[in-house]
Amino acid sequence: MLSNALQAALNRQIHLEFSSAYAYLAMVNYFEALGMGGFAHWMRMQSQEEVNHATRLFNYVIDRGGSVTLETIEKPGMDFDSPLSVFEKALEHEQTVTRSIHDLYALAEQENDYPTKTQLHWFIDEQVEEEKSADDAVTRLKLAGDQPSALILLDQEFGRRQADGASDGASGE
Ligand code: FE
Repeated sequence: MLSNALQAALNRQIHLEFSSAYAYLAMVNYFEALGMGGFAHWMRMQSQEEVNHATRLFNYVIDRGGSVTLETIEKPGMDFDSPLSVFEKALEHEQTVTRSIHDLYALAEQENDYPTKTQLHWFIDEQVEEEKSADDAVTRLKLAGDQPSALILLDQEFGRRQADGASDGASGE
């Protein structure tokens, strides 16, 4: 059985993952309004992945005989200044998620909950990828600066993101 503390922490993580999905959908909306369908596609996939993360944890809690409490999802920020600022926000967000996963792992360790530690190994690795892909995007958008032709090329590249590890440089699961 999961301890009460661990169950509560897993529930907070489920909430954070669903909130992430919502935050990325807001970014889809921004990019669609700008006519940047490639970045919008990338963010749609990102949002879907967050739903998958939440569902994975949801199923895990149930498998352990625990109980999930679904909380209200807050309204995400809808206003962005530029494509660069969107990805800077995404990077910041992923860094927050990483800290949360690490705290969760520390708690599982403290409680000697070995199955939860094993479950979290996947998330720890996943966060390395998430931070890397957001960080790469920030770097490349800084390079592109205000040049429309460079932004259009990047938009096309991000539009080629594929699901689940079928990577092409613009991926990031
Ligand atoms: Fe996630």
